[in-house]
Amino acid sequence: MLNLVLFGPPGAGKGTQSEKLISKYQLVHLSTGDILRNEISNGTALGLEAKKLMDQGILVPDEVVIGMISNKLDANKDANGFIFDGFPRTVAQAEALDSLLESKSSSITKMVALEVEHDELKKRLLLRGKDSGRPDDANPEIIEKRIQEYLTKTAPVAEYYKAQSKFEAINGIGSIEEIFDSICNTLIS
Ligand code: ADP
Repeated sequence: MLNLVLFGPPGAGKGTQSEKLISKYQLVHLSTGDILRNEISNGTALGLEAKKLMDQGILVPDEVVIGMISNKLDANKDANGFIFDGFPRTVAQAEALDSLLESKSSSITKMVALEVEHDELKKRLLLRGKDSGRPDDANPEIIEKRIQEYLTKTAPVAEYYKAQSKFEAINGIGSIEEIFDSICNTLIS
């Protein structure tokens, strides 16, 4: 099984690269952001609670996203592998993911980290906010809050995978194809 964690700050290009990796390697895409937005559009109780935090750029509680991922792993027992996009976002989530996969005799193959500097991220997110319809992309203060959440709570997750020798850094500046090629190269090495 090929189980990839696609990692990087908001606006790094995880969604774009996920789509390309899924079609090349036939993987199941698990984006906690997408799952949460789906809960919101279905008007579920979980969605309503999550929306309050997401609209402020704050992470939703670990147990909520871990439960969602656990359900998705159970629902896709025959998958070739998974791309985890936007998850794990805290060290507690990374630990929980390891135990979930271990209970299925599986494990994370690699973490691929897309690296893009702060100012470029802000530009990309504001541009995306013009037509994505995402309230958390439209406001510079909320964008800044998401980047701060990333730096304080999510960046330490990279250390977690470095300690397991699974961390690969990729330059997230360049054309979509160039970045995709560098990701694919790290997967065969
Ligand atoms: P981005 O484009 O900012 O990386 P996502 O679409 O992945 O954003 O997530 C949007 C919001 O959903 C986050 O700001 C956060 O509130 C919530 N969220 C998504 N994934 C997680 C997670 N794994 N843990 C906690 N909150 C999450």
